[in-house]
Amino acid sequence: MKNRWNNREAARHKSPLDLRVYTSRLLGKDPDLVMHGGGNTSVKIAEKNLFGEEEELLYVKGSGWDLASIEREGFAPVRMATLLKMAALDELSDSDMVRFQRAAMTNPNAPAPSVEAILHAIIPFRFVDHTHADAVVTITNTRDGKRRLRDIYGDSVLIVPYVMPGFILAREIGQMTRRVDWQALKGMVLLNHGVFTWSDDAQESYEAMISLVTAAERYLSRACGKLSLPNAKATKAGEDLLALAAARKSVSELRGAAVLARPDRGKAALAFSLLKNVASIGTRGPITPDHIIRTKQKPVLLSKNPQRDIARYAERYRDYFLRNKHDSLSCLDPAPRWAIWPGAGTVAFGKNAAEIGIIGDIVTHTTKCIRQAEALGGWKPLPEKRLFEMEYWELEQAKLKKGGAAPLFEGKVVLVTGAGSGIGRACVETFAAQGAAVAALDVKKAITHEFDSAQIVGIRCDLNSSQQIAKAVDQTIRHWGGLDIVVSNAGIFPASESIADMSPAIWDKSLAVNLTAHQRLLQRCIPYLSQGIDPTVIINASKNVPAPGPGVSAYSVAKAGLTQLARVAALEFAPQGIRVNVVHPNAVFDTGIWTHDVLQKRAKHYGQTIAEYKRNNLLKTQITSQDVARLICTLAGPVFSKTTGAQIPIDGGNERVI
Ligand SMILES: [Zn+2]
Repeated sequence: MKNRWNNREAARHKSPLDLRVYTSRLLGKDPDLVMHGGGNTSVKIAEKNLFGEEEELLYVKGSGWDLASIEREGFAPVRMATLLKMAALDELSDSDMVRFQRAAMTNPNAPAPSVEAILHAIIPFRFVDHTHADAVVTITNTRDGKRRLRDIYGDSVLIVPYVMPGFILAREIGQMTRRVDWQALKGMVLLNHGVFTWSDDAQESYEAMISLVTAAERYLSRACGKLSLPNAKATKAGEDLLALAAARKSVSELRGAAVLARPDRGKAALAFSLLKNVASIGTRGPITPDHIIRTKQKPVLLSKNPQRDIARYAERYRDYFLRNKHDSLSCLDPAPRWAIWPGAGTVAFGKNAAEIGIIGDIVTHTTKCIRQAEALGGWKPLPEKRLFEMEYWELEQAKLKKGGAAPLFEGKVVLVTGAGSGIGRACVETFAAQGAAVAALDVKKAITHEFDSAQIVGIRCDLNSSQQIAKAVDQTIRHWGGLDIVVSNAGIFPASESIADMSPAIWDKSLAVNLTAHQRLLQRCIPYLSQGIDPTVIINASKNVPAPGPGVSAYSVAKAGLTQLARVAALEFAPQGIRVNVVHPNAVFDTGIWTHDVLQKRAKHYGQTIAEYKRNNLLKTQITSQDVARLICTLAGPVFSKTTGAQIPIDGGNERVI
């Protein structure tokens, strides 16, 4: 484990709290030490209160903060005197612990202190560092873990059998250490959970952590060697995107909300999924109970029939709940958070890009730890009862309940064509702002790095090529796990020419882009939309359909054909629950097709100035891409869930249309 301490950087952090921030961030930089909100740190500081009295405070990591990005405000200042009194109690309920810890804070606006605050308080050193280091927990999760730890550390660390975190753990350690010489200890390993180190010096406490973890890592690499990876043939086989979309649908139904699915077909994930005993070792439990609220106690194992596998998983989850429940607990949703797909890697399920990222990371670390523990003689995580206790612990569940109502399109996957500008771009941004995961297709090269959001993936695609359409749709499924909403938007506005003067090239190009490309896209999307959540298609046609103008036959005819395609699609797709609706915008001038030249020509054609032409409608209003995007989002949402085959103008009112 790399020691990231840097004297020059450290010197910039003068106060103990600033140093605490510095070394906490160093710990947070290594995902092999802590991941996504895991681990916690503290520093004890004497401060004068409002009345001039000196008080000792524990600044401990606040709930909701991540060590990698923590700031001074991320530490909750709690009075040591109260924490030590709490530690001496025989009994303390979780709710009392939380209430008293909060009441003992000197700043009521600080975040809630970590549930491990009391334990930090009883460790008689100024700095305390706690991680769930992979190497250490891997060794503790084996049949012979305790003996191995003794081999590695001798008597230099205190080994604590697994106890649920919170008050009971602090009380247990308080009792164990009554007659212990703290000075003789380098740290403490909590079996199946993690490591603690301490010192009055920030650097020493941090470096003690690095040294304990490095010793465990060396032991592992000596004992396990290099883990094998699959051959090239195995890495090519096993991809079934339709089955992936079906699995995502089943998981969404069980979870009661749309989720995304992200397969991992990297070499490590594939190697894990190809293990002969993967069904057994993959489903025994997590590497640390801290992960349970993210991953549940086990993944689902997929086969040729993912829907059946997921339904069975849910049944077994309910059995697990009934076997272990007590008091008035109610069963959480029985949807798996990740899957092992033998021969095809692993899959993470989550509500948004952030959640699939977190779960994906945890899975990557978990599968590696499991393989190493197996090489050490047997992967043996905590028993079911302990895992259940943690999963249903009210303090863990409270972490998940923060954050209010979900955005309207959370977990939904939207594919938008012509996403690089105008209405398409506005659709991408409007859907993403409402929580959707978006595949933004455009012919321009820059589309792949145009959007600075984890919720949007830009995909380059020339819609004139069926092959490129197929690739782009496949990439969407691979990235988000399925498809729910297609905004078939891309279009061109060809140069005005009368029928008599029409050049075949202009006519052909308009039909290819404004009509045929939409048909090809729909054809490719249908199998995935059939597995979508409240699936829908929105076609961007034009006011030109109900009210054509002279000189634009190539455009009007293609858009009329497109509208007819949408009407037939509404008829054909209805049995699969897929809605198809059409919008007819007019005079949306902030799009790519309205160059100054085109504007001038059209205005001249009607004998108007550009300004008059822009508001040439009954409401005398200007229609923007944003207005059209809002309409399209509304059409895709629940307000229009009972509407299909409709054509909706957005044109400021046009007497020829009305
Ligand atoms: Zn912990």
